[in-house]
Order: sequence, then C-alpha cells, then structure tokens
Amino acid sequence: MEQHSFEVLIVGGGISGGTLLYNLASHTDVKSMCLIEKYDHLDPLNSNAHSNSQTLHCGDIETNYNKAKAEHVRDSAQYMLNYIDNASNDPTLKRKYGKMLLAVGDDEVQVVKERFESIADLYPTLTEVDATDIADIEPNVAKVNGSLRSEPLHGLYNPDGYAIDYGRVTENAIDNAKSVSDKTVDVRLSTEATKITKTEDGFEVQLKHGQAIHCKCLVVSAGTYSLRLAQTMGKGLNLSVLPVSGSFYFGPEVLNGKVYTVQNPKLPFAAIHGDPDMTKPNTTRFGPTALMLPVLERFNAKSAIGFIESFHFTTGTAKTLFDLMKDKDIREFIYRNIGYELPVHGKKSFLKEVQKIVPSMKLDELDFADHTTGVRPQLIDEENAQLLMGAAKISDGDGVIFNMTPSPGATSAFANAAEDMVAVTSWLGKSIDEQSFERVFNVKPPA
Ligand SMILES: Cc1cc2nc3c(=O)[nH]c(=O)nc-3n(C[C@H](O)[C@H](O)[C@H](O)COP(=O)(O)OP(=O)(O)OC[C@H]3O[C@@H](n4cnc5c(N)ncnc54)[C@H](O)[C@@H]3O)c2cc1C
Repeated sequence: MEQHSFEVLIVGGGISGGTLLYNLASHTDVKSMCLIEKYDHLDPLNSNAHSNSQTLHCGDIETNYNKAKAEHVRDSAQYMLNYIDNASNDPTLKRKYGKMLLAVGDDEVQVVKERFESIADLYPTLTEVDATDIADIEPNVAKVNGSLRSEPLHGLYNPDGYAIDYGRVTENAIDNAKSVSDKTVDVRLSTEATKITKTEDGFEVQLKHGQAIHCKCLVVSAGTYSLRLAQTMGKGLNLSVLPVSGSFYFGPEVLNGKVYTVQNPKLPFAAIHGDPDMTKPNTTRFGPTALMLPVLERFNAKSAIGFIESFHFTTGTAKTLFDLMKDKDIREFIYRNIGYELPVHGKKSFLKEVQKIVPSMKLDELDFADHTTGVRPQLIDEENAQLLMGAAKISDGDGVIFNMTPSPGATSAFANAAEDMVAVTSWLGKSIDEQSFERVFNVKPPA
C-alpha cells in the first residue's frame, strides 16, 4: 500500500528539490522522505539545460553583484563543483569554459576596470585583458575581417569557468538519494500539490488527484509556483510574483567560452551573453531575453491562473511597476525585450545585441531557439513597493520552507539545500553526519 506519511516532504523535482533530497538521504539520519513532481519526469522546467544558460555563476563576471554577493555566490558555486567531483561519479555534468566579461566603449571600460579593482582579491585566476588579449582568447569578439574592431575594448577573463547541465545534476542527485539503503526515499512523478494545511504534528499537502500526504516537515521548491503554494497556507501574502521569461537565439560555433556583457545594476537579470551550448554541439546560444509575462510557465496558458493567484493588484505592486517604467533605461530594456520575440523584427533587433559580442554575426546565422526558455520568479515586496533582486525564502521556523529561485538559483542549489537540511534536521531533532557531508563538499555543514 502506498505510504501517505513521511518525516519530510519536498515539493518540486527541479535542482532545488533534488539537491535537498540528496542531502537528507545521504548526510542525515532522517529515515523517511518523499519528493513529488507534478510532471511525469524530473527537471521539466527551469533546471533543465534547455531552460537556463548553464552557467556556474561565481560573481566574477556578473557586474550587477556587489562584492558581498559575489563572494557569497562564489562560495555557493563551490558546493556544486564539489558534488560533481566527489559524489556524482559523472564528470560530464560539468564542462570547463573560460568566462569573459566584455566591455565595449569608454563608459563600460571604466566600469569593468573599477570592478576588477574591487573584486580581484576574491578571484586569484581572474585577469584584466585588453583588445589584443581578447583577440587571442576570443578572435570573433575582438576582430572583424581580421582586424581589431574600432570601439575601445576591455575585459576580465577567468579561465576557470564552468557550464553545468543542471537538469542532469538533478537526476544524478535524486538517483544517489534513492540508492541509500535502510531508508524510505520515495519519488513520485505526476503528483501535484494543490493546498497546504498546518496540522497538530506537521502539515497536510493536498494532491490534485485526491488523497493527501502528511509530513512533519515540508520544503516547497516549486520554482515559480512556490509563492502560490505558500499563500494557500497564508504565508508570503506581502509578496507578488513577477514572472520574467527568458528565451534564446542559436548561432554557429563562434565562441571558445562564455562571454558576458556589462549589466544594468538596476535590473536583476544578466545582460545578453553568448555561451557554447553544452547540449547542442557546434552551437552558440545567445540570450536570455527578459520578457515579463503573466504566466508561471512559458507555453502553458493554464499557468496564467497560478499567476493571477500569486500576483496581487495592490498599491505596492502598482508603485513598483510604475517606478520601473519611470526609469528610462528600464523602460527601454522592457520595450527592447518585447521586440526580441516578435517575428522578423525580433531577430533583427536581437542581432544588434549579438553584434556587440560578435560583430561579424549575420542575420541569417541566427535562429530563435524554439522551446528553449525558462521563467525567473522575481518577487515584488508589496509593503516596501520594491522589486527583490535575488532568491527568496519563506521560513518562519515552524517546519515549512518555501524557496523562490530566480538566477543564480541553480548554481546555489546545493548551498541552499545545505541550509534547508540544517533547518529540517533541527526541527525534527535529527542529526547530520558531518564527516560524510564534509567528504563531499569539503566544508562543514552551515551552522
Ligand atoms: C532564462 C534563464 C536563465 C538562467 N540561467 C541560469 C544560469 O546560467 N545559472 C544559474 O545558476 N541559474 C540560472 N537560472 C536560474 C535557474 O534556472 C533556477 O534558479 C533553477 O533552475 C531553479 O530550480 P528549482 O528547482 O528551484 O525550480 P524549477 O527547476 O522550476 O523546479 C520546480 C519544480 O517544481 C515542480 N512543481 C511546481 N509546482 C508543483 C506542484 N504544485 N506540485 C508538484 N510539483 C510542482 C515543477 O514542475 C518543477 O519541476 C536561469 C533561469 C532562467 C529562466
């Protein structure tokens, strides 16, 4: 008979849910756990390699991270690399690519020089590169028809960069969790949570097709849907979700590594970058675009209902959106991104962005990457009428956690799962096997 009660229930079969299941199964004495995923396979949405840029973010080339955030992301990324190296038994989950931050024009050159000054001590392998260096590393970036391009160029270069197939990491971590003996590690596909209720000794999670699962602790890592589920039990009511969809264009193999551009610090999304695609040989992926859409999943019109339920038309959201539109740079950014997805015109206007990275790129070399897209759950704090810049967690110390994970949520997944593991074991009165955790991650679990 199917079990309906567990010590821990995890909602969401993406990288956040998968890494927590692994941590609990492999490094704690929690005995029974279940992960549910509403689709019939794992990593169907944002963690899949088709939905994100596959970058292991370290804070070195992301100009919108301040120094503290850069350091935090760098340390979080190390968990991901350590898992792949020490526990996955699959080195193909990562691929080494140099990473460049490219500055084009005097203003950007200045920004990048100042950034190097402020963060260089965090990254021993990061160097400043001039136009000639860039031509050696990425000839198609620095040269047109064999000569250096005319604009001033400067950059930061880190040869120690990685692309990660986060979807396959999710599957690998869940397989590892399921292989632990003497525990119940249940993974249920095609199982959708609809409502959460607090009970005397834990939580009851109602499922779409009848029945319910009971658990002592609950972690909801349902990506764009986490806030909606939190709100079914009266949590996170001061927040609204602002889904920002990101799509890509495919081009020929023109880059040796990842090339990022200078980002607008007022925006929480990466500026358009070029990345060799890990899953599509001889292809460079350019993007992502950033298009606000009233859906929690791209190409799933029914997910508009979830959006309506978790976006509130309040003074706080209205003021936040009004303030965004008041800013000329942001307004133009929003309009440009709407344009990128229009037929014919979209490709032409996107070409200009690509040519900032690869000036010789031609229109007929670019193709809109169909169904290669994801949605970032940005959040609006309604009380403070503010767009939140990064990931968010609702955790009031009462046995339930909700994770909302825009970029770089995949990079930080194991680090975030380590925090959740500490909270869950402390609520359950269970313990963490520190030695086994340290053997994989090379650090002690967070305090
Ligand atoms: C365009 C784009 C580019 C990005 N690039 C990067 C990058 O380069 N590097 C990086 O680190 N991050 C990147 N990110 C962010 C990264 O993809 C996400 O932070 C990460 O995948 C989030 O993982 P998750 O498991 O929290 O959510 P998801 O992968 O969205 O998984 C949530 C899961 O929950 C399931 N679910 C939802 N509701 C329910 C329910 N009611 N019941 C059961 N299951 C449910 C969903 O089906 C889904 O499988 C990017 C994101 C986008 C959109």
